[in-house]
Amino acid sequence: MADRIERALVVTAHPDDAEFGAAGTIAKLVRDGCEVAYVIVTNGDKGSGDRSMTPERLARIREDEQRNAARTLGVEQVRFLGYEDGEVEDTRDLRREVAREIRRFRPDLVICQNPARTYNLGASHRDHRVVGGVALDCVYPLARDHMAFPELMPEFEPHKVREVYVMQWEQPQLIVDIGDVFDLKIKALACHQSQFADFAAVEARVRERAGELGKPKGYAYAETFDHVVLFR
Ligand SMILES: [Zn+2]
Repeated sequence: MADRIERALVVTAHPDDAEFGAAGTIAKLVRDGCEVAYVIVTNGDKGSGDRSMTPERLARIREDEQRNAARTLGVEQVRFLGYEDGEVEDTRDLRREVAREIRRFRPDLVICQNPARTYNLGASHRDHRVVGGVALDCVYPLARDHMAFPELMPEFEPHKVREVYVMQWEQPQLIVDIGDVFDLKIKALACHQSQFADFAAVEARVRERAGELGKPKGYAYAETFDHVVLFR
């Protein structure tokens, strides 16, 4: 990369998405002196098979879990937009809120989810696709143009994002070596206790997939992305 990435904003649909898709990459950015922040669009209040659980209680649990996971990676700023899990739509309100967060944090790099439908149904969750598409629309042009969302001005001045990493497993353009931070990724994932009845099985699955993703480059473990460069 020509210039150092000093600020990175991770925009995801649910608590735990950032860790599954990018924890190793985030840990490396932090280690290199980059300031990283999260925007989590939903409160994750549907992610439980426990019949005695309520959406309100689950949302609180997942917020705590997400803050702990972020802290494990060296990320202190986590903003929750509070949308309902499974119900995210591409609305003007959501676009304005994500554009506002980009203008607030002013990142060089945005990390987001894949807006395209794939047949990896877990990765291609409806909320992920919608939030991925909204994040890209906000990078260009909505966070950038002063006449988009005039109500955000003057508090939130326009901002130009330089690069985007889009989480992607199928034919990724960018393969990030996470071998030396893989343990940290597992530690961060383990913070999302409410999501795992059997964390050992989850760890094995994550280990296997990260190993597969690293193979083309000879890395022990990797995370993969498409890479959009808007300007250097
Ligand atoms: Zn998710």
